[in-house]
Amino acid sequence: MNIYDSARIRDALETLGYEETDEPTEADILLLNTCHIREKASEKLFSEIGRLNAFKQERARQKKETLIIVCGCVVQAEGAEILKRSHTVDIAVGPQNYHLLPEMVARFHRKNGRVLKADFPAESKFDYLPKTKATSASSFLAIQEGCDNFCTYCVVPYTRGCEYSRSAAEIIDEARQLVETGAKEIMLLGQNVNCWHGSGAADFGELLYLVAQVDGLKRLRYTTSYPSKITRSVIRAHAEIPQLMPYIHLPIQSGSNTVLKAMNRQYTAEQYIDIVEQFRKARPDIAVSSDFIVGFPGETEADFEQTLDVVRQVEYASSYSFKYSPRPGTPAALMKNQVPEEVKTERLIRLQALLLEQQKKAYEKTVGKTLEVLLVEKGKKKGQLIGYTPYLQTVHVEADDGYLNQIVPLKIKKASATSLSGELNCDINKKTGF
Ligand code: SAH
Ligand code: SF4
Repeated sequence: MNIYDSARIRDALETLGYEETDEPTEADILLLNTCHIREKASEKLFSEIGRLNAFKQERARQKKETLIIVCGCVVQAEGAEILKRSHTVDIAVGPQNYHLLPEMVARFHRKNGRVLKADFPAESKFDYLPKTKATSASSFLAIQEGCDNFCTYCVVPYTRGCEYSRSAAEIIDEARQLVETGAKEIMLLGQNVNCWHGSGAADFGELLYLVAQVDGLKRLRYTTSYPSKITRSVIRAHAEIPQLMPYIHLPIQSGSNTVLKAMNRQYTAEQYIDIVEQFRKARPDIAVSSDFIVGFPGETEADFEQTLDVVRQVEYASSYSFKYSPRPGTPAALMKNQVPEEVKTERLIRLQALLLEQQKKAYEKTVGKTLEVLLVEKGKKKGQLIGYTPYLQTVHVEADDGYLNQIVPLKIKKASATSLSGELNCDINKKTGF
């Protein structure tokens, strides 16, 4: 979501004549987009500001002005604190106010006044942001933001606000813009993407059918799905829409019903497993991934064992797992039965070892097969490209730049736990990929 937001911030600043650069010494504006989800992410902010300040000072010696702008959820949570602690920050802007950035920058130049904007405005930023363009052959598109679920550990409902869905017409329009500017694949984004309830389609499942019809769109994905809000239409979409990739990110968080209840997750482990089975019935090769939190307050060894049991039962293709991080203002942070750090660490190591073993198996299963791979970037080695299989597995291949941004059938030769290496069939046409 932050990658998508950064692209929209770029679009907004382009209206003032700015251009994107990766070279900080060239930048008149240094932008820092922040995440508040876990303490570790938030902590990075002040050291990053220090790093950016070094560029600002260096440019000041050359008589060049530099604005430091901090964006994102940390601003939403502690914007005033950021301006107080870091005098070098000129503008701080929360995630629902990005459309106001051009005006804030112009105002800063007029009055040289530091500004903080972190309220939840009545208008939607999407109605005011200018048209966007593809960031690569695989581009993001936010369709839904915010959350009304209030899991007891999570800051999202406070930092991103309540659930908001864009209309189907607006989404399709943006999907067309992305395809016209080079996207072959679109990843629909939402804090709970399947809770989408915008106008123009009955539900998220129906929206998938509509977006898949956009001319020239070859691949469609979405993330993140909330398990108990999966509807039949989403499952059917995986059986019927050829562009919809066989991959579902479905975070369970914990395999213990006691912990799930304390987390205020609205499903049981049994219901979750049933949903996974329905996906697999519709699309037998579908890759399933999840998020896990270990060491939630009150989690016992027996609870944790239940998480391991679910992992063994589901067999994940990939996953993200985290130690529970107490976040200020959330109910779980005040729970008395916090789990000691060393227990969290030990559980995370055990869980990650099991998940990695499963991921390795999923990667190894592809060896010898020919898979369609969307080549999206250049590798570190000269003459190497990197792409993704339909199952979102990373593939490296020796191929010249003519194949970049193409979907190409690759014979998978080798697998490690985190990537594949493939080989081009020499009959492939560079322009079409086939
Ligand atoms: N809406 C999605 C998740 C969005 S947040 C869902 O409900 O599934 C992304 C992930 O960050 C979560 O799935 C969770 O695993 C993790 N996360 C959120 N808050 C956390 C916290 N306080 N400590 C550790 N991990 C957390
Ligand atoms: Fe956070 Fe997801 Fe729960 Fe919403 S559903 S509160 S985003 S973990």
